[in-house]
Amino acid sequence: MTFNSIQIFLERIAPLAGITPQELLELQTPARELTAQLHVHGKTYPAYRVQFSNARGPFKGGIRFHPEVELDEVKSLAFWMGIKTAVADVPFGGGKGGVTVDPKILSREELQELSRAYVKAFYQHLGPTKDIPAPDVYTTPQIMAWMLDEYETLMHQSTPGFITGKPLELGGSKIRDIATALGGVYVLEEAMKKLNLREKTAVVQGFGNAGMNAAKLLAEHGFKVIAVCDSKGAIYNKEGLDISELINVKEKTDMVTSYKNAQQITSAELLALPCTVLVPAALSGAITKDNADVVNAKIVLELANGPTTPQADELLHGRTILVLPDILANSGGVTVSYFEWVQNNMGYYWTDAEVREKLKDKMVTAFGNLWPEYEKGPHDFRTVAYVHAIKKIVGAQRLRSG
Ligand code: NAD
Repeated sequence: MTFNSIQIFLERIAPLAGITPQELLELQTPARELTAQLHVHGKTYPAYRVQFSNARGPFKGGIRFHPEVELDEVKSLAFWMGIKTAVADVPFGGGKGGVTVDPKILSREELQELSRAYVKAFYQHLGPTKDIPAPDVYTTPQIMAWMLDEYETLMHQSTPGFITGKPLELGGSKIRDIATALGGVYVLEEAMKKLNLREKTAVVQGFGNAGMNAAKLLAEHGFKVIAVCDSKGAIYNKEGLDISELINVKEKTDMVTSYKNAQQITSAELLALPCTVLVPAALSGAITKDNADVVNAKIVLELANGPTTPQADELLHGRTILVLPDILANSGGVTVSYFEWVQNNMGYYWTDAEVREKLKDKMVTAFGNLWPEYEKGPHDFRTVAYVHAIKKIVGAQRLRSG
């Protein structure tokens, strides 16, 4: 989604949130747009940090290292983080960062220097009470460790709550690696209760961090996962796939299609399979006006960011297929990031079971905050979630300045 298309969407739904034109303008305007040029080993890389509304708490959002990162995209993602943290009811504003770089061609030494250079460029605007970064596309727990070390060196103090997504040894949280998928499963279970759905079959598009963990957790929660795909192909077995075996196969060969006990199908056929839940967990724009008609699921659980286009959203809503939108469905990641920050600030760490229980509580509550409004109609779940988030952000701002 470009920043311009976000503005158009906001203008359309602002009346539903009852905000004034001035409040809309403030909502659409970043608090800060920071840019820098990072010099590493004789090369220069453009870098960005964008922050939106800290009325509800410090800014929060990941840093991506990608060759196509540019300011407009970082702005869209930062805005969107502000909406997501409001839906998830974690006390943060919107933030996002990026560096225009292909990290795959950097040596480990260059990658470390680039990570440290990013912190040197922006550290005055970052910190546990200002803006808390995290991993995103092509940034890892190791990169978070280097960034933490650089920040603490510059500030001459221990500050683990500066950044989340750290390795456990440096103050990371239990279950951070599966938090996105697990949060999605908790939301899905709530929705199924509301819709009175008892059959439990699932189709998962994408078999990376989000998709693989979703398939594993769905199987653990009693779902029959009948089809999955990755970028190389799709597989289907109506009796259900053995997910542990499939994970072994994927780890060995990097292709889900190497799994034996299933038939190979096309990605288009995968989207059309009858199932309780379809989980897009790969790309944005996967469900469009051209293929929304074939979707044969009761629920679409958006673990990927932006997998359903606005036109497809309308078509699915028209067919009473419930789309649980990304800003809710994949907010388990930022919720456990919040838990990591809380644990760092307290200096007291929770067990695996404690983090799971708190995540479940947060996800069930976030869903419960939206369901009654959705049930009343006539809006789709995404619109309801956005309106709820906008009311919260603007409401917090009104208390400060009204
Ligand atoms: P990933 O790189 O680990 O996995 C992506 C998967 O998608 C891979 O299995 C890849 O083979 C597959 N894929 C790529 N192109 C495909 C295609 N054309 N058809 C089918 N499959 C294809 O990425 P990830 O971390 O799992 O993220 C996936 C999505 O979930 C992204 O939209 C991401 O923004 C979103 N997300 C992830 C997290 C997280 O914690 N990992 C959190 C929030 C949102």
